[in-house]
Amino acid sequence: MNVDPKVLAEKYDTPLYLYDFDDIAMRYEELKEAFAGQKSLISYAVKANSNLFVIRHLAQMGAGADCVSIGEVRRALSAGVERYKIIFSGVGKRDEEIREALESGILMLNLESEAEMKRVELVAEALGLEARISIRVNPNINPQTHPYISTGLHENKFGVEIDVAKRMYIYAKRSAHLNPVGIHFHIGSQLTELDPIREATLIVADLVRNLRAIDIDIKFFDVGGGLGVVYENETTIPPKAYAEVIYEAIKGLDVTLVCEPGRYLLANAGYLMTRVLYEKENAGKRFVIVDAAMNDLIRPSLYDAYHRIEALKEADGNSEKRTPADVVGPICESGDFFGKDVDLPPMTHDDLLVIHSAGAYGFTMASNYNTRGRAAEVAILDGIDHCIRKRESFEDQVALELACDSSWQEK
Ligand SMILES: *Cc1c(COP(=O)(O)O)cnc(C)c1O
Repeated sequence: MNVDPKVLAEKYDTPLYLYDFDDIAMRYEELKEAFAGQKSLISYAVKANSNLFVIRHLAQMGAGADCVSIGEVRRALSAGVERYKIIFSGVGKRDEEIREALESGILMLNLESEAEMKRVELVAEALGLEARISIRVNPNINPQTHPYISTGLHENKFGVEIDVAKRMYIYAKRSAHLNPVGIHFHIGSQLTELDPIREATLIVADLVRNLRAIDIDIKFFDVGGGLGVVYENETTIPPKAYAEVIYEAIKGLDVTLVCEPGRYLLANAGYLMTRVLYEKENAGKRFVIVDAAMNDLIRPSLYDAYHRIEALKEADGNSEKRTPADVVGPICESGDFFGKDVDLPPMTHDDLLVIHSAGAYGFTMASNYNTRGRAAEVAILDGIDHCIRKRESFEDQVALELACDSSWQEK
């Protein structure tokens, strides 16, 4: 990353999120290159890391944005993503969100039920607009990933069955206020197998051919996100192989390919830096207690996710004697850990640890649990550090409570 993490820890304090913007750019270009054989749009899945400067960085390279709330749409617009590259997805959109999305003229709304389609039609009618829509198909494919991030099975809440999708397209085609321009699927996250992607793409491509036959012309073929990354020793899918499988499945279809990577672009470009507070032993078990906690990075607690943890220590003779330790935070939950049985040298107060692969679903899942302010975020670009979000203060945390009418408390 070309910077000294110790200097940054001094300058910004810990816990601290660091993002390598050059790394993000490299991954984006690699994916763009893989899809260069066909009209394509890479719409960054904002929920992975929604910092305005991260979105802006990607937008400057031409990326669009895949958003799952109107808040994310607003972030994308204010970070400079072109509106015709913004997609609004998600199973539950409020009328206000639909209205604002339609008024802002984004590329399309991704619909996940017939009921939602009817709401969008009503809102579009009231605005005197035609809503560009796509429909999320649930191809009933097991993506072979963690159940919490598997989305493409009928037992998951996402999308609609093929037959329902077909019915919806026919309805939308006839409606004066709906314009079905796209089709969408997203079978899960952290995908490491090509077969489920191939199967899902074939199923959806077949549907597109059937729709063509009845004069419904799909222009955007959105394969979702989900491309997996290496956290530990996973074998991942090279972008070229990913693109080839998709091209093969949609052969002969004149569509713009859309893909929505989140984790792939951000996960391994981000690091969470934390300082050691204490070491302790309970009946022979070693614990290293650090100043970051599950409120900063919840993935180990939520998914039992693995994150590599690296000790930044001078190589004195002592540091060679590594023994297993649980790396834990200060929160009052036994689930508050970053790693179990991590081989670490003896650690002392203020030693630094770097938690790797923390760029996606790290900060965006952070909370104020235990009244802990959220960490600062720093971008590294060309070896120079830039603050992209200040550390949250106690005052920030209580501001909305104090903003309420408190006269009833004083009586
Ligand atoms: C979460 C999500 C993505 C991104 O998933 P990653 O695994 O981070 O690539 C893309 N599309 C949709 C609809 C999503 O919900």
